[in-house]
Amino acid sequence: MKALFLAGQWRQGRGPAARSIFPADGSVNAEFSTASTDDVEEAIQAAHQAWQDPSWRNSLPVERARVLYKVAELIEKNATELAALQTRDNGKPLAETRGLVMSAASTARYTAACLETLDTELTNARSREWLTMSVHEPLGVVAAITPWNSPIASEVQKLAPALAAGNAVILKPAEATSLIALELARLFEEAGLPRGLLSVLPGKGSVVGNAIVQHPLVKKISFTGGTSTGRQLAHTAAERLIGTSLELGGKSPTIVLADADLDLAVNGVIYGIFSSSGQACIAGARLFVHSSVYDDFMQRLVAKTQALRVGHPEDASTQVGPLIDEKHLNSVDAYVRQAEAEGGQILTGGHRLTEGELAQGTYYAPTIIAGLNNHASVCQEEIFGPVLVALPFEDEHDLLLQANDSVYGLAAGIWTENYRKAWQLARALDVGTVWINTYKKFSISTPFGGFKESGVGREKGRLSILSYMQQKSIYMGLSSQPDPWCEG
Ligand code: NAD
Repeated sequence: MKALFLAGQWRQGRGPAARSIFPADGSVNAEFSTASTDDVEEAIQAAHQAWQDPSWRNSLPVERARVLYKVAELIEKNATELAALQTRDNGKPLAETRGLVMSAASTARYTAACLETLDTELTNARSREWLTMSVHEPLGVVAAITPWNSPIASEVQKLAPALAAGNAVILKPAEATSLIALELARLFEEAGLPRGLLSVLPGKGSVVGNAIVQHPLVKKISFTGGTSTGRQLAHTAAERLIGTSLELGGKSPTIVLADADLDLAVNGVIYGIFSSSGQACIAGARLFVHSSVYDDFMQRLVAKTQALRVGHPEDASTQVGPLIDEKHLNSVDAYVRQAEAEGGQILTGGHRLTEGELAQGTYYAPTIIAGLNNHASVCQEEIFGPVLVALPFEDEHDLLLQANDSVYGLAAGIWTENYRKAWQLARALDVGTVWINTYKKFSISTPFGGFKESGVGREKGRLSILSYMQQKSIYMGLSSQPDPWCEG
């Protein structure tokens, strides 16, 4: 059975054994051990000690950066194996997992470069008698809790800045994707990260995750996952008066205006919803199309969707792989059945795929539903699957009201040739990221996060390291005269 990584030691956890399952055929990739609450206690105590040791927190930025550069190099060197492992863990096609691995490497490298150029601020002089400066210090032990859909990318997005800032991290990966998180631990170890600063503790969120976030020595919760879990963690953090970073769910609108380049838009909309089989927080799941181009656009959209290659994720030509597991497939299907019950028409898909080798896995046909309005449950709730709901619109003011009529505010897409209009719309949408004439593209230098119930805080970008630090202001007296206040 695969060991977990507890404070520099590879050993069996004291929690129940768990399995990683390949969603393409239900076969077992590996058995791994999970942590018990005693393991959590031990890992956090070790992390606390490692964080207090000045050899990491007081090391020069260039020294911490060196470890991260090495991590980036090792991720790239092992890219093929890491991508293959992630595909086995969550069923994403190889082309996508390869992209996620390369994004993890560039996150580590970018964070190292930011760390080297991060300066202490000398604040403006307010007096000739004293000088002030403001320094940033690490928080201590950080809890990083991640979902299964893009594990290696979201994990490095937390580990790199948190460790760069001088903290120790306890990573609790999603149950389904623990193998890739353990492999990442091996690379950090090989890169020379001092013992104790990182532990990877697989296990159930309600047991292992909960024990980590409740621990008094944990000083920040950095979470990516569903909104209801995020809300629960925010309650815990509020009770304990510690900070959070919450990257949560979404129901992103994608908008095709009358003057859009329809070829560009069709491909972008399809990629935005059906890549990763729709299992993406930023999936463009609500499609608003101007009524003057609706029929033409929908015809092309349905035809291209039907031509998507759904298949085995290890086949290089596959565009759409299986869903993560049976339970999730049933939940996606239940949403589609509910849409029908609410009067929706299924333009394509709407069922499980069971032909040939697909019968062994959890495949769902890319699905497009029309005939509903934005109040339908499939427009308001996150399905996290390959289901697109199309809604025609006439008036742009009304479109904006509908697009913003969601508890979520993660992302949006706009397709138009009129950049002035695109800019106005982009500013008016209540979302954290807007793509114009493109969709689901990422840059590590560009901050990412949600509005409304899609999250709190931002990841990525030049300032990500500072989000894992606390600021301290220091006053230095320059006067050699005793304070006159005490002189009777
Ligand atoms: P989830 O919320 O069920 O689980 C996420 C992680 O939290 C897992 O590691 C889980 O074990 C842990 N967890 C669950 N309960 C916990 C608790 N009580 N205490 C501590 N930890 C706990 O989410 P999921 O199903 O793994 O992922 C899908 C969700 O993630 C979707 O809603 C998706 O939109 C969201 N997501 C958001 C982003 C983003 O950047 N905004 C990125 C990817 C996924």
